[in-house]
Amino acid sequence: MMDIVAALRQLLGENGVLDQAALSTRSAGAMRPDHLQGAALARPASTDEVAAVLRWCHQHAIGVVPVGGLTGLVHGADGSAEVVLLSLERMNAIESIDPRQRCATVQAGVVLQTLQESLEAHDLIFPLDLGARGSATLGGNAATNAGGNRVIRYGMMRNMVLGLEAVLADGTVVSSLNTLIKNNAAYDLKQLFIGSEGTLGVITRLNLRLWEAPTSRNMALLGLNDFASVTALLKRMDRDLGGTLSAFEVMWQDFYRLVTTAPAQGRAPIAHDYPYYVLLESQGADPEGDSARFAAALESAMADDLVADGALSQSEADCERFWSLRDDVAQVFQGGYPIIFDISLPIGEMEAYIAGLRQRLAEQVAGHRLLVFGHLGDGNLHLAVQVPVAEGEQWRHTVESLVYAPLEAFRGSVSAEHGIGLEKRPWLAISRNEEELALMRTLKNALDPGNILNPGKVLS
Ligand code: ZN
Repeated sequence: MMDIVAALRQLLGENGVLDQAALSTRSAGAMRPDHLQGAALARPASTDEVAAVLRWCHQHAIGVVPVGGLTGLVHGADGSAEVVLLSLERMNAIESIDPRQRCATVQAGVVLQTLQESLEAHDLIFPLDLGARGSATLGGNAATNAGGNRVIRYGMMRNMVLGLEAVLADGTVVSSLNTLIKNNAAYDLKQLFIGSEGTLGVITRLNLRLWEAPTSRNMALLGLNDFASVTALLKRMDRDLGGTLSAFEVMWQDFYRLVTTAPAQGRAPIAHDYPYYVLLESQGADPEGDSARFAAALESAMADDLVADGALSQSEADCERFWSLRDDVAQVFQGGYPIIFDISLPIGEMEAYIAGLRQRLAEQVAGHRLLVFGHLGDGNLHLAVQVPVAEGEQWRHTVESLVYAPLEAFRGSVSAEHGIGLEKRPWLAISRNEEELALMRTLKNALDPGNILNPGKVLS
């Protein structure tokens, strides 16, 4: 049998490759009990080295699974004893920050939080933000088109990438590096790789768009009596806050109780009685004026009975405390085995969808608990269906079909932001039609005819 480790060490040096024994000490990712699986883990230090690894694997028909910060939730970076894992952890340089062009050029292995912190001195932000910021890499964020907490204001990762460099399956380096906001010179090739989950190429460097840092922040945690008020409040706040609305998160009552009751650390800023809780955030550039506008908008919503109760932030510490409730997703791992979802559907259909799901779960899944929360302003709900720990995975298929099947009628999506990976591959056809799937296969065959890039992920 071919010695893959030795061959890769010829290309990358001793330090550039971890063997199987070394991999057995590396976790497969957050919330995962298992360790990384691969014939080897390649750690190239430059784009040329990435190209050399891919060229070699292409010649020898060996699969390559790109791994980023391992914070994904859909088994998109799972390997096996037959494949080479490819980590860009040594390509972690912020190459430049240009405050005038408002663009950063980074290597794909830079951790999201590292870039966020580096921009503080420039009064600029890279607005992608998510709970996994301390581990997730910018290359992984691009490969999975990450979403997160401020999509309502800035869009998803796709919207923040100006240009990128990628290596194709055969080792060809395609530079689509670009720092222009407007560039309509034919096909926008970078979009092929963004959200492709490592199946069409390996992203090695990125030009990222930066924004001016806001100087004010106001938040409120609100209790609402019905779902019609939730959707009306979203429209009202978007209008009355004059473009400063930066998050509109919703927690259904069960989730709010979970994250504000022991063993959770958080405590409830307002009573537990409301069916819906909205976490509202506004970011602007006029601290006094923004606070006054925020308070006036909320007073008007309360006068019109859209909001039943609320707590307003008085400080940055309050803002952090409000966010920590919404971000305490670890609690869904308490008291049951959670099966986790990130669906999208039209906001007007959410109430009926959740009511139907509740009923089907009650009929078919004994001992479950449904927790609902998410980026409602973006049409994206997170669901966690807890089932008894001892039965765990036995329930997965039943629960997945109860969650996914009704989305087709609503023209919803099986993945708003987590991607497809292995976990959602069987359900992709609910959200993509035959012609779309055929075109995806045509693209995959054109770019990776040997099917070595993240084989088996996304498309079967
Ligand atoms: Zn999310």
